[in-house]
Amino acid sequence: MLKPRKVPMRMCVGCREMKPKRELLRIVRNQQGEVKWDPVGKAPGRGAYVCRSRACFTRAVKAKQLQRALEHPVEESVFEKLLEEIAAHEQTNPEEEATTSQAGKSPCRP
Ligand SMILES: [Zn+2]
Repeated sequence: MLKPRKVPMRMCVGCREMKPKRELLRIVRNQQGEVKWDPVGKAPGRGAYVCRSRACFTRAVKAKQLQRALEHPVEESVFEKLLEEIAAHEQTNPEEEATTSQAGKSPCRP
């Protein structure tokens, strides 16, 4: 019984748009009260999400949206990690803007 996988949607704290979870960066506050980037998206704890976009990230940082969503201060090193990730993403997808909204077509991979 193979059900088609639904795409989980989460809200970016920068632009407040709902996006597929896998397109977003997840920042998590774990039970020890540490705030970290969660590259796998499965770490336990309270999560906040932001697009892999410098604009969204900058907006989220300036408005302290991550702190607000996590109800916890966020260390500078976390922001640095996220910026690195965004920069790497920009290099691999230089012109990727909001044109990839064909979520209906999901190829069945083995
Ligand atoms: Zn965004």
